[in-house]
Amino acid sequence: MSEIKNIGVFTSGGDAPGMNAAIRAVVRTALYHDLQVTGIRRGYEGMINGEYEPMNRKSVSNIIQRGGTILKSARSEEFKTPEGRKLAYYQLKKHKVDALVAIGGDGTFTGARLLGEEYGIPVIGLPGTIDNDLIGTDYTIGYDTAINTVINAVDKIRDTAESHDRLFIVEVMGRDSGLIALRTGVASGAEVVLIPESSEDLPALLHRLEHGRKDKSSRIVMVAEGDREGGAFEIGNIVKEKFPQIDTRVSILGHIQRGGKPTCMDRVLASQVGFAAVEALKAGRKGEMAGIINGEITFTPFDQACKKNSHKLDANMVKLVEILSL
Ligand code: ATP
Repeated sequence: MSEIKNIGVFTSGGDAPGMNAAIRAVVRTALYHDLQVTGIRRGYEGMINGEYEPMNRKSVSNIIQRGGTILKSARSEEFKTPEGRKLAYYQLKKHKVDALVAIGGDGTFTGARLLGEEYGIPVIGLPGTIDNDLIGTDYTIGYDTAINTVINAVDKIRDTAESHDRLFIVEVMGRDSGLIALRTGVASGAEVVLIPESSEDLPALLHRLEHGRKDKSSRIVMVAEGDREGGAFEIGNIVKEKFPQIDTRVSILGHIQRGGKPTCMDRVLASQVGFAAVEALKAGRKGEMAGIINGEITFTPFDQACKKNSHKLDANMVKLVEILSL
C-alpha cells in the first residue's frame, strides 16, 4: 500500500466529452477514501505555471452532463523539455501533490510516462480523446459522443442531399485514423468511406460513380481529415472534374465533433475508469492507463497504450459500407 495523500488531476490535449465525468469520478472516489484532491488547470502548462486548486465534493457538482473540461486543457511545448518537466515537478512538490491522474491521449501519456520515470511520481492515465486511437481500451472517453454528433449532422445533410439530388462529401476528424469515418459511414449509410489506412478507397469511389447505380438521388461519402488523397475539398475537386454532371458539395464538420453533452456510454465509461484510477493509485499501481476491454477494467503500460494501432480498424467494415450501399 502506498502513502498517497494528495492526488492531482488534470486534462490535457484535445478536449473530449466525458472528461468532466472522469474528473468527477476521480474527485469523489478520492474523497471517499479521505484523500485530498488538487485540480491542475490547463494540463501540463498549468502544472508548470502553478495553476493548482484544491477540489471538494462541490467542485464537481452538476458537471457529469457537461461537455469540455472544467479544468481546461492546453498543449505545452515546455513540458516536452527536461527543464519544463523539472519545473512541473517542483510545482507538484510545492503543492504537496504526490500522485496524478492524467486524462488525455497518447501525447499526454508520453509526458506522464517521462514524469513518472524521471521523478518517481505515480501516474495513472484515463483515455480521454475522441479519436479512440489508444490500445488498452475498447473505447476512449468522448468517442461515442463524437460519433453520435457526426451521425446527427449527416442525417441533416442527407435531407438536403435528397431534396436536391446531391452528392455530399463529409469530412470528419481523424488525422491518423479512420475509426470515426468508418463507424459513422456505416451508421449513416455512406456510399464509400475514405480513410488514411487505405489507398484503394478513392479509386473505389470513382469506380462506383462511373459504373454503379445511376438512380440514386442522394449520396454520402465520408472522408477522414487525414486521408492520403487529401481532405474533403481535394476529393470534391477530383469528383467534380471527373463527373461534372453530379451536383457535388463538401461539408467539413470540424469542431462540432468535440463538443456537446456526453452520451450515457461516455459518462459511464468515464465514471468507471475514474474510480478505477484512484483505486489503482491506492493499490500502488503507476505508469499505466486504465481502460475497459470486454467489460473488464484493464491496465496498460503507457508505452503500450500509445502505440499506433490499426488493429481497431475492422477491414470487414469497409466491405460492409460498400455492400450495404449497393
Ligand atoms: P489528443 O489525442 O486529443 O490529441 P493528446 O494527449 O495526444 O490528445 P497532445 O497535444 O499530443 O494531445 O499532447 C498533450 C500534451 O502532452 C502536449 O502538449 C505536451 O505537453 C505533452 N506531450 C506530448 N508529447 C510529449 C512528449 N514526447 N514528451 C513530453 N510531453 C509530451
